Amino acid sequence: MTKLSATTVSALIEELIQLKLVEELGEKQTTGVGRRAISLQINKDGGYVIGLSFGNQYLRCAIMNLHGECIAEYRTEIEKGNDRIAGQIDEALSYCMQQASGVDSSLIKGIGVSTPGIIDSSGEIVLVSRYLQLNQFNVKAHIAASYPNIPVKLVNDSNAAAFAEFYSGAAKGISNIVYLTINEGIGSGIIIDSTIYAGFQGTAGEIGHIPVDPGGEQCTCGAVGCIETVLTSPYILKKSQAMALKREVPIPAAFGEVLERYNSGEEWLEPIFDKVQYVTTFMLASAGNFVSPEVMIIEGWMNGSPRFMSQVKEAIEAFPFPLPFRQERIIPASFGDKGSLYGAATLMLQQIFSASVLK
Ligand SMILES: [Zn+2]
Repeated sequence: MTKLSATTVSALIEELIQLKLVEELGEKQTTGVGRRAISLQINKDGGYVIGLSFGNQYLRCAIMNLHGECIAEYRTEIEKGNDRIAGQIDEALSYCMQQASGVDSSLIKGIGVSTPGIIDSSGEIVLVSRYLQLNQFNVKAHIAASYPNIPVKLVNDSNAAAFAEFYSGAAKGISNIVYLTINEGIGSGIIIDSTIYAGFQGTAGEIGHIPVDPGGEQCTCGAVGCIETVLTSPYILKKSQAMALKREVPIPAAFGEVLERYNSGEEWLEPIFDKVQYVTTFMLASAGNFVSPEVMIIEGWMNGSPRFMSQVKEAIEAFPFPLPFRQERIIPASFGDKGSLYGAATLMLQQIFSASVLK
């Protein structure tokens, strides 16, 4: 692939073995003449990366080896504001470093951090995150105070999750992907030609704030009737509670209960979910028409309702795209809500292994 001579390859491999990045697996059985081939692999303990993710609910941290295997993991309920989250970062990093006590910290090749909100162009500062109440939070400088020699890179949480599915998850080996996460909010990540597409100033993918419901609910962004006000769990819960009151059925206390009762076929929920299904189909059809991904990956509450998903998949298959979109191309995320954590770490792995000559 590289068009290098065998001698050059041998010399380079020898160098990588010296650096402990590659190891020999032993001789390979061959039938041909000449020197016997030796199998090689990446030495999994030749280096490590750290993933750190700020989620809606948890702050998570993980140390991974070069094979992408987790060797230490930490999770805690996330707090809000620059100072509190800075403290939680210190706690998470020192816990994981302690758990991976055999690891030489000079072998840590990078820390990938996934966060909601807007990130500056250098990938070091969270400019603003409304939800986590972060404001001009210089994550890179904060981590550098304790770990001055480790590169730090920030990435948007949905983009990180999309990248994890692309790198080693449900969409492994697929180069054009739309990833959607639908829970308390909606996030999306777009991968075009194997690269995250973040858009001008990094704000692409705000599909949840496309208005679809004139005269509908007020959205957190300030507009009225955004997709988020129809598809996300807090809004569905609120509408279900109002409907239950009107229909004189027991009022659901939480979204999980609404979904359970819908799955078991309670008929009074049909009108609400009919609209949710219609708007979901609209959203996926728009993404399909606009980006033309090979697959669309879904994370969130919808995966908890096979009944709902099969209706959406059928509607997409029946949708008049220029070329048909088979329902097998809509797939559940394989990492669930850990996608952005794994994505943050694997993005650092990819930086280590990316070789432009092999593209
Ligand atoms: Zn909105």
